[in-house]
Amino acid sequence: MSSYSPDVRQFHKAKQAEAVRNAKHAQQQRQQGRKPAGGFSFDRTRLPAPAPYYESQGLALKGRGAWLDAVCPFHADSKPSLRVKIETGAFSCMACGAHGGDVLAYHMQLHNMDVKQRATLSRLGVETASNSFHLSM
Ligand SMILES: [Zn+2]
Repeated sequence: MSSYSPDVRQFHKAKQAEAVRNAKHAQQQRQQGRKPAGGFSFDRTRLPAPAPYYESQGLALKGRGAWLDAVCPFHADSKPSLRVKIETGAFSCMACGAHGGDVLAYHMQLHNMDVKQRATLSRLGVETASNSFHLSM
């Protein structure tokens, strides 16, 4: 009396093969899903959080509320003219007019990045698995 008849073994093999096929399929789908839709689409959920990002860039954010003040790095600022919306990372300078919608825009302007570099960042952003994505180029 064996509990493993040939039929049962066959069944288990088929199940295993199916599981392998499913895993491969899921992997393919993940890989396809990673590709940007085209152009310079960017997965903004992978951008660093505004507060730690601006701090890492040496910006001292002052005040409280939705918009904080900081000394503007885009012109020779003596008093905090730059307003930063801490929730989104949007920024706007009252003195020189520098502005943008998020930390990526800030980083590009601060480091004079061009479209090609932005595309590289975009790929990094899409392919990096965790929030280790780091704007340090
Ligand atoms: Zn400014």
